[in-house]
Amino acid sequence: MRRVGYNLPGSFLMDKQNTPPVCDYEGSDYQSSFWDQGGREYEDRTEAIAIKRLLPKSGRLLLELGAGAGRNTPRYLGFDRIILLDYSRTQLEQARQRLGTSEKYIYVAADVYRLPFVDGLFDAATMIRTLHHMADAPKALRQVRNVLQSGGTFILEFANKLNLKAILRYILGRQKWSPFSLEPVEFVKLNFDFHPKAVRNWLKALGFTIEKTLTLSHFRMGILKRIVPTNILVFLDSIFQWTGALWQLSPSVFVRASRDETPSSHGVQTSPALTNLLLFFKCPDCSYYPLMDAKDYLECSSCRKRWEVKDGIYDFRESHAY
Ligand SMILES: [Zn+2]
Repeated sequence: MRRVGYNLPGSFLMDKQNTPPVCDYEGSDYQSSFWDQGGREYEDRTEAIAIKRLLPKSGRLLLELGAGAGRNTPRYLGFDRIILLDYSRTQLEQARQRLGTSEKYIYVAADVYRLPFVDGLFDAATMIRTLHHMADAPKALRQVRNVLQSGGTFILEFANKLNLKAILRYILGRQKWSPFSLEPVEFVKLNFDFHPKAVRNWLKALGFTIEKTLTLSHFRMGILKRIVPTNILVFLDSIFQWTGALWQLSPSVFVRASRDETPSSHGVQTSPALTNLLLFFKCPDCSYYPLMDAKDYLECSSCRKRWEVKDGIYDFRESHAY
């Protein structure tokens, strides 16, 4: 299982607008306990390989959903600008410390179910180890679809319920839930594994074309990781990743999908200059744009909500009264 053995996020929030509950990493030591000291070098390096294989070499504006402390962000450097989005402000503060202050990075605290961006803004988006926490995955994926341009690239990673270990445990009667059924399984509160076919179905229904599938972490077993040198496991996994085109039985799956061209979106896409950040955002509550820049906050002139801008982080989680 993933993400067990570190301090789990402390709170599960239900939004006022009845969006699904959010897994909040606020104050979590996820980066240091899970990645830096957690023996996850193998997983981290196999992800780096998959990203290199799937993501376009260069681009204009990329949205990193569930950016956390920015572990993967340096792998997107071919893009002119990168928006790091996370629900947790403290994770974004860690990312800022790690990446430094630069024009290239924009930090946004927001709820994935209420993205504060105008339609068709991004030419690429990534969502890695994040769908894992989505109680309503199709709803989150629809938001991503909306903010991508026609033809835009979406790199999605999801935790696979149809993995060999789960299949074996199910056959031996040591696990109640079936890895073969399409519905997600919630094995720990707000931690979900998905069936590859279910994810494919959602993406297709939303107007994505799946271009490539890679499977990862074939050798994610404590004993293997202890006795086999990491370099060898990473090398083997990099070869096995290509079998994802044929079947998906590993715990982690990456897909590259592109947003289909649609008659309605053709030619009316917004494509603001990269320098004017204000044109990126819309009000997450009423969808009005452009917002007004009042330095310490952005204000919606339609519903009058104010969204805080503090220490270089745009905060669209809750509106503030001033
Ligand atoms: Zn508004």
